[in-house]
Amino acid sequence: MDHLERKGPIPDSTMKIMENGGVIIEDGLIRDVGDFEKLHKEYKVPVEEIFTSSVLTPGFIDAHTHICYAGSRAKDYAQKIQGITYQEILARGGGIYSTVEKTRKSDYDTLKNETFKRVNQHFNSGITTMEIKSGYGLSLSDEIKMLEVINSINETSTPELLTTCLAAHVRPLEFNDNETYLDYIITDILPVIKERDLSRRVDIFIEENAFQPLESQKFLEKAQILGFSATVHADQFSRGGALVAAAVSATSADHLESSQDEDIRALVDKNVTAVVLPGASLGLAMDFAPARKILDAGACLAIASDWNPGSAPMGDLLIQSALLSNFEKLTFAETVAGITFRAAYALGIDDRGILRQGKLADMISFPSDDYREILYNQGMLKPDMIWKNGNLKIKKSQ
Ligand SMILES: [Zn+2]
Repeated sequence: MDHLERKGPIPDSTMKIMENGGVIIEDGLIRDVGDFEKLHKEYKVPVEEIFTSSVLTPGFIDAHTHICYAGSRAKDYAQKIQGITYQEILARGGGIYSTVEKTRKSDYDTLKNETFKRVNQHFNSGITTMEIKSGYGLSLSDEIKMLEVINSINETSTPELLTTCLAAHVRPLEFNDNETYLDYIITDILPVIKERDLSRRVDIFIEENAFQPLESQKFLEKAQILGFSATVHADQFSRGGALVAAAVSATSADHLESSQDEDIRALVDKNVTAVVLPGASLGLAMDFAPARKILDAGACLAIASDWNPGSAPMGDLLIQSALLSNFEKLTFAETVAGITFRAAYALGIDDRGILRQGKLADMISFPSDDYREILYNQGMLKPDMIWKNGNLKIKKSQ
């Protein structure tokens, strides 16, 4: 991933594949990358073990998840594959409000245990950094509970977790209008989050049946004044969100299934990272976001899982990225960039996602002698060794 363009298309021919390579790690960072024999002589490091036929890549980064939740929506899913619409499921008491109800009822330890399992499952498939949103609490105490759960897992788990406040997911039933609820987030929830440093990012779901573009823009501008960076659930079913993301110079605009040329151009002009979520398309049986078009327009494109109990229950970022690359005709380099250094940009960080001197030594290795096997196996070839901050944390037996 070194020396690749930050934005726009990446032909595989520009990707540097190093054979017989080595990495020198010091204090959790990459100190050097180069020819194995040369590094061995130069640094005089003892070789404890020789790994043969391995492909080493940066650890994967999932820039968009909702894996802090209680309960399951398996019942909804069974209805959905019978052909019952999302609207009908919602009317029968399913949908997002059922997850809100279960998450509110869940005690701290139960929510923590359930979230921890998903974090570990994700790490085990090579995700060394993951973003996790709140957004199933929708009240001061429940949003705080979710963010505290995520932060406390971050303190003890190996992968690094970044939190985002998504109190503006949908309007909770106890509020009668959006404006009052958005004001409540600004005056009651965000100051507490800021004071306790529970999150530095704010997200909002801009959609016909969630929040409208104009009120969302005002909300994000106020959150930015409070010191939060902005990200947006944009253009999933209807347009409007990407233009708001561009107007407030958000860090990222995520979803974009319904984005048109004008929306994509606005994101490129304002350097907003475009995040596509193939897992949501698979979960909802809808078209993928126009990833090829977004890249060709010159955007920085990241791919994330959107792992959540409703629309994207699978949660396997590599399978989803591999399928997206095939349907949207993304090159290997573009696809892996989307879940490594370009995903870092979606989170406003640039200290990882590339095997280069000075970057975090977050690395994964695949049991193969050909990097192309990774996408060819459509996500079923999993990493067998995973390093976080230079420490080998997972080593699976063959
Ligand atoms: Zn989402």
